[in-house]
Amino acid sequence: MGKPTGFLEFERQPFPERPPLERIQDWNEFHLHLSTQDLQEQGARCMDCGIPFCHTGTMPEGGCPINNLIPEWNDLVYQNRWREALDRLHATNNFPEFTGRVCPAPCEGSCTLGLIDPPVTIKSIECAIIDRGFEEGWVVAEPPAVRTGKKVAVVGSGPAGLACADQLNTAGHTVTVYERADRIGGLLMYGIPNMKLEKERVERRVDLMRAEGVTFITNCEVGKDIPADSLLHENDAVVLCGGATNPRDLPIEGRELEGVHFAMEFLHGNTKELLDEKYGEVQGEGFSYPYISAEGKDVIVIGGGDTGNDCLGTSMRHGCKSVNMFEILPKPPPERAASNPWPEWPNIFRVDYGHAEVDARFGQDPRTFLISTKKFVGDEHGRLKELHTVLIEWVPSENGQRPQLREVPGTEKVWPAQLVFLSMGFLGPENPVLDQLGVERDARSNAQAEYGSFATNVPGVFAAGDMRRGQSLVVWAINEGRGAARECDRFLMGETSLP
Ligand SMILES: Cc1cc2nc3c(=O)[nH]c(=O)nc-3n(C[C@H](O)[C@H](O)[C@H](O)COP(=O)(O)OP(=O)(O)OC[C@H]3O[C@@H](n4cnc5c(N)ncnc54)[C@H](O)[C@@H]3O)c2cc1C
Ligand code: SF4
Repeated sequence: MGKPTGFLEFERQPFPERPPLERIQDWNEFHLHLSTQDLQEQGARCMDCGIPFCHTGTMPEGGCPINNLIPEWNDLVYQNRWREALDRLHATNNFPEFTGRVCPAPCEGSCTLGLIDPPVTIKSIECAIIDRGFEEGWVVAEPPAVRTGKKVAVVGSGPAGLACADQLNTAGHTVTVYERADRIGGLLMYGIPNMKLEKERVERRVDLMRAEGVTFITNCEVGKDIPADSLLHENDAVVLCGGATNPRDLPIEGRELEGVHFAMEFLHGNTKELLDEKYGEVQGEGFSYPYISAEGKDVIVIGGGDTGNDCLGTSMRHGCKSVNMFEILPKPPPERAASNPWPEWPNIFRVDYGHAEVDARFGQDPRTFLISTKKFVGDEHGRLKELHTVLIEWVPSENGQRPQLREVPGTEKVWPAQLVFLSMGFLGPENPVLDQLGVERDARSNAQAEYGSFATNVPGVFAAGDMRRGQSLVVWAINEGRGAARECDRFLMGETSLP
């Protein structure tokens, strides 16, 4: 609960950040920590509100999806009892060093203090607790005391697969994680860029899990490099955590031109290049994207969201000539709309790190709202040279159906561009593994498995994370990985004590 009068005494202090013009010169993380005293004061702002919605995770998109015991560790930080705060944090979250950096913090949108004042800076406190835990040497490998003799294969090593493997290993099962990429981590490794989450942090956690007995196999696509049903024969259960990485395309005139890419081609190739160079490795064959340089180019990112924002930040670090971002939806309001009350996630206009960097470098926010791309135009060599756009409006439909998109006459515009990144969301798993195992899909092509049971139609096969719920958040992937592990354990042992 913190200090009863803390919210009256102390103002919210968010994560300090490195200045945009400094940080775009390198790939290091841009977040910094508050001092210990400042963190204690921020913990003190937690106000013993009675019904802390921040940790419920029950509202649509509100509260912490993994039910982090936020008021408890706020209080422990306020009292300078960091070791105990770490234990309470690890009780619900396998990887606070990831969520403490990349989570959009739905908890803060549901903080009771947020009704009258800026909310408690929950995410910064979470990050500080785990970072201190590592610094102090409190986070060490803890292999299970007893092995059950049961074997489980986990397909995919993103946050869902890692959380699932961690929980199943803790329960004493022998876990092997299969990953088609050359490094473990899923989108923690090859989606979210280094400046938001340094890859050493992912590797550090994977090393701990390895020391605890989890086996990781990389460069192995289940369903291609090994048949999916062999996993079923060799294991007592299989958990599918393959993500939802099938990108939405924009099949308009000129889509085939050189310079038009999916965002993930850019982001994956960039991190791979960064790490290969760092570790002195040669760019490998197999599942990897080629390196795309934005240096000296006019870049346009089509689609907002986390992925688009990461394309902005990456283009800035390459030294692009200009960068714009197109969004087909209207600009969100500065404050909550009446239809979006507390404690729901506030759908408001936000300035993320990439937007701030573009603004600092080029003098304006890169976003244009309510705009649609009509065609890509190339030069005589088939290379992209410009985009043709028109402004649009959303017209309410008369029969109560979804609003219709209408072009605004006279608003056509031509934008110079040598690089375009398509970041308009993801359509579901791209994976043959579901078909090979005979796993049914839902209407959105994700693995069909009810939330809570995580069981597919194939006995002994479970599904979790983006592969089950569609592209979402790291914190939801951890929630689902933990849940699937619990149900898998129940399936294997007849009962479970996993949370
Ligand atoms: C660019 C980008 C930025 C994002 N930024 C944020 C953010 O800031 N905060 C946030 O909360 N969320 C963010 N997200 C969303 C978040 O990363 C995902 O919701 C989360 O990673 C999903 O976890 P997952 O484990 O279900 O799947 P993934 O992380 O996608 O991992 C799935 C893994 O399975 C592997 N795989 C798939 N099929 C097979 C197979 N057949 N055999 C072997 N391996 C296989 C894949 O290679 C991949 O490594 C972002 C997403 C993207 C694309
Ligand atoms: S995991 Fe996300 S929602 Fe949960 S406490 Fe941390 S920042 Fe908040």
